[in-house]
Amino acid sequence: MTRLAKTVVVCLAFVGLCSPAHAQFGGLLDKAQKAKSAKDKLDSLNISEPEEIKIGTAISEKVRTRFGVVQDPAVTKYVTLVGLALAGKTDRPGLPWTFIVLDTDGVNAFAAPGGFVHITRGALGLIKNEAQLAAVLAHEVGHVVHKHTVDSIRKANAEKLASDAALSNRGPYLDKLTNMAYDMVLEGKFDRNDELDADQHAVVVTPKLGYAPAALADFLQLLDDRNKDVPTRNGLFASHPDTKERIDKIRKQAGSAKGAVMAERYAMNVKYDVPPVTAITIVAGSSGLTGSTSAGKDDKSDGKDAKKEEPKKGFGLGSLKKSVAPEQQSAQVTASGGSRGVGADRDAKGGPNPGLVKVTVTPVEVAAFVKGIA
Ligand SMILES: [Zn+2]
Repeated sequence: MTRLAKTVVVCLAFVGLCSPAHAQFGGLLDKAQKAKSAKDKLDSLNISEPEEIKIGTAISEKVRTRFGVVQDPAVTKYVTLVGLALAGKTDRPGLPWTFIVLDTDGVNAFAAPGGFVHITRGALGLIKNEAQLAAVLAHEVGHVVHKHTVDSIRKANAEKLASDAALSNRGPYLDKLTNMAYDMVLEGKFDRNDELDADQHAVVVTPKLGYAPAALADFLQLLDDRNKDVPTRNGLFASHPDTKERIDKIRKQAGSAKGAVMAERYAMNVKYDVPPVTAITIVAGSSGLTGSTSAGKDDKSDGKDAKKEEPKKGFGLGSLKKSVAPEQQSAQVTASGGSRGVGADRDAKGGPNPGLVKVTVTPVEVAAFVKGIA
């Protein structure tokens, strides 16, 4: 008797002997069917790599329009060299990796699906050395490589998006994904586990190039010190897990391993200063794409009202809440309540020119750049 036939006989005997078990068995089948249909729905929301790049291209355009781009080929080339060196050490070296310096004093970094990584002039001003730059870029690259943005939106909105995604014309589905992803990217509304995963990515990837593995912790400490008088979470990593917890985790993962920090090369290539967070010029109503944010700037981001606001629907807050420790939930909700209470960095004024700065970087140049890390 084949194995399958034997299994069938056993099942029949089982069912025949015991009807409550039959009911239970039927329940299991039902459950299995439901699970399968949920999985099918989620599968229909899968996007191809070209679709991912299309979404990322649209998001990057919006981010560049919002903040402007520093029109400086030398700085762009330097950031691109670090970024391409990192991307080459990931599972997705072949994406059209693009590294962009945004023209704003706000300290921030944004990753869009498909390989678009944005870092602000303010962040470059706060960063003290090349290892920290590599660490921040590696965190963002981690979001891209592990498809955090699109995956979390798909999971949180499977029911809502399924009918669009199943159509042969995928345009409306991709448009919806793009809008949701833009808000998510801009507001840093990633799942807590995705944030910790991106941190870990930085700790793992940067030493492959010779950088000190704990450099991200050093940068987060600088950021924390800078924001110590800001009442609410602010800008970069606004909804990320508690900064202190992240710093501890990163230092633990990094262990006692040493590496290069490359402070001199950084100082040679980046000359920006960062103003205090209280001196940043803020613009009203500029951040939300879907009209869900931008409560105006007269609330001075004190966060008091923001806590009372309902969290926005449709951005995976349900799943996000489940994975967040209770004491952090109010901060999460604050961060999700639109621009109120989120802070100066995200609402910082941007520059006028959204044009990409095109730089050419050859694999030979990247190799020579990596050789110089010591
Ligand atoms: Zn992140």
